[in-house]
Amino acid sequence: MPRRATKIVATLGPASSDPDLLEQMIRAGVNVVRLNFSHGKAQDHIDRAELVRQAARRAGREVAIMADLQGPKIRVGKFAEGKVFLEPGQKFILDAARVELGDIEAVGLDYKALPREVKTGDILLLNDGLIVITVDMVKGDAIYTTVKLGGELSNNKGINKQGGGLTAPALTGKDMEDIRTAMSFQADYVAVSFPKNATDMEMARQLCSVAAAEYGHVPGLIAKIERAEAIPKLEEILLASDGIMVARGDLAVEVGNAVVPALQKRMIKLAREHDKVVITATQMMESMITNPVPTRAEVSDVANAVLDGTDAVMLSAETAAGKYPLETVVEMAKICLAAEGGEPVKLDADFTGKTFHRIDHAIAMGALFTAHHLGAKAIVAMTDSGSTALWMSRHLIHVPIYALTGKVTTQRKMTLYRNVRPLLMDTSADRDTGLAEAENHLKSKGIVQSGDVYAITCGEPMGAPGGTNMLKICRVS
Ligand code: PGA
Ligand code: MN
Repeated sequence: MPRRATKIVATLGPASSDPDLLEQMIRAGVNVVRLNFSHGKAQDHIDRAELVRQAARRAGREVAIMADLQGPKIRVGKFAEGKVFLEPGQKFILDAARVELGDIEAVGLDYKALPREVKTGDILLLNDGLIVITVDMVKGDAIYTTVKLGGELSNNKGINKQGGGLTAPALTGKDMEDIRTAMSFQADYVAVSFPKNATDMEMARQLCSVAAAEYGHVPGLIAKIERAEAIPKLEEILLASDGIMVARGDLAVEVGNAVVPALQKRMIKLAREHDKVVITATQMMESMITNPVPTRAEVSDVANAVLDGTDAVMLSAETAAGKYPLETVVEMAKICLAAEGGEPVKLDADFTGKTFHRIDHAIAMGALFTAHHLGAKAIVAMTDSGSTALWMSRHLIHVPIYALTGKVTTQRKMTLYRNVRPLLMDTSADRDTGLAEAENHLKSKGIVQSGDVYAITCGEPMGAPGGTNMLKICRVS
């Protein structure tokens, strides 16, 4: 099977919780499984994590688990009849003080602060932007509105404000609990929903490190970029995170659909320039929730995300609740592979005007440059923390990167890095033994054969983080 560089994140849900099916999905190419903490209780997540670990073991692949926190949910309350149908032109009241169930005239609010955060003239989007209402007046706890775009509004649908500006903190009490749960099973990544700035991410980092201390675990942090406010703060958010998600669902509601494709390109580029990973998410293969084949527009969307340079493409309802979870993964993997083949490598231009000051970073770039020019079969990074492999993977190159690590947690984290195939290997031996073992390992997996040239980096002493100081070009004997 040809080697795919772009990674696939699949959301676990009722449609993918059968152990055999999940194993098949992992065999078909799922690299990261997303657990959505918006649904289920602590024990459900613990059970799901175990399900993933076992399926991965049977498939003989390491996959990362990403715990996706619910974040603040700015929602309407419930209706007496479960839903209403709003007509354009009608008046409708959102009332934070309302205790009785909603009707065609008014509904309560889960997010009690909303009346203090909107003013006359503001545009509110309900149910992912399918319903549009404008604010006529705010009086006490009640927001008086006129419906511009009508439709069905049911229990607990989300509310967004056009242009952003709702101040709900990114981490709720529930999220803090959920972080403790996620750390108990050592989730490899934690995704923070609706962060506004670096402070939100720093707070999440702190909560994770407190909760993970007893397990000696360090998760990667992903900032979901889905608020208008986060866009001008992109750089500081990136610096405070290990990666970002282009969370197109909520983002499109706040900033408008039309600007999202350009933002996606900018976010992917900026993330890579900052040595961070990036996941492109939401509605990538939407029609496959009900159809066995994607639309051509979806094929283009996935392919374009790959060409933009994303590390991973994500499936949400397609694998969580769709009819064709396995077929979707198979199709998505095919699209990624085909798109990757069409990319021009501009490594020399990448390096123009750049200087690398750290020894380990300079060695990583040296390996990339040399392997590219020699047309090497593989680049091999012996890595403890995974940072050598991360730096290498920030540049587009058609030579595959193999990351050998002695730590399974590092191996799992690297499953998200584009063009990196992480492998587990005991790295405690001395340098020469380690290099010989690495070559044997690669040969036994059929990655290199006699006569092939590869570039390998390692550190002396071996197995210490940040110690990469050696590059060797080898020809397989
Ligand atoms: P969600 O996040 O699926 O948790 O809402 C992704 C998005 O908003 O695109
Ligand atoms: Mn979202």
